[in-house]
Amino acid sequence: MKQQPGRLRFPEDEKRQPWLPLLLEIQHLTNQGVAAAIKADGRKLACGRGCASCCRTHTDIPVYPLELMGIAWYATEKLEGDLRERVRAQLQQHRDLGACPFLVDNACAIHPLRPMACRQFNVFGTVCAAGEDAFHTRRGDVLNPDAKHKNEALREMLRHHNIKDGRERRRLVESGEVHRLAQSLREMRWETLAARMTGEKP
Ligand code: SF4
Ligand code: SF4
Repeated sequence: MKQQPGRLRFPEDEKRQPWLPLLLEIQHLTNQGVAAAIKADGRKLACGRGCASCCRTHTDIPVYPLELMGIAWYATEKLEGDLRERVRAQLQQHRDLGACPFLVDNACAIHPLRPMACRQFNVFGTVCAAGEDAFHTRRGDVLNPDAKHKNEALREMLRHHNIKDGRERRRLVESGEVHRLAQSLREMRWETLAARMTGEKP
């Protein structure tokens, strides 16, 4: 996939982690789809820094294998100091948290590598109340990501699964079969990642 201008870059890491450029391109496409949808809607987003009720309320956040690789890489190689230790501790006890284990002080500790689903979930109008899932309470305020960008991002994701044929990638996305690759972020065995994060970054 051609490198797109404006996407996040980790030049040295991208040389060492051959899967990373594809993930960063996919994230960029996802961001573009969100930006296009915000522009098309015309309303102002309620989401902002420090607003994180959705990271507690949502228990069914899908995450794809390539995204999991990105999260593991970022957590083990980029997080440092107190934040690293707090994330590690939360991953260790994630089943008791009642929130995403990457949520620290109402901010996403892996924000640059957060999954597509987190990038795409945005709400217009009013900030979500504690415990509110706007998808169910006010569907009309939930952003619909631009389908062109969203589907392209998913088709590109399938390259990671060695599906080279473009028509097959399109079929898997249009049929929704691509979603079978995703797992639930809150159901992952994060203890394994916590163990890998013991000690300072390599
Ligand atoms: S989806 Fe709701 S809780 Fe999450 S950042 Fe947006 S307004 Fe805040
Ligand atoms: S990965 Fe980040 S944005 Fe997504 S639910 Fe967890 S803390 Fe929130």
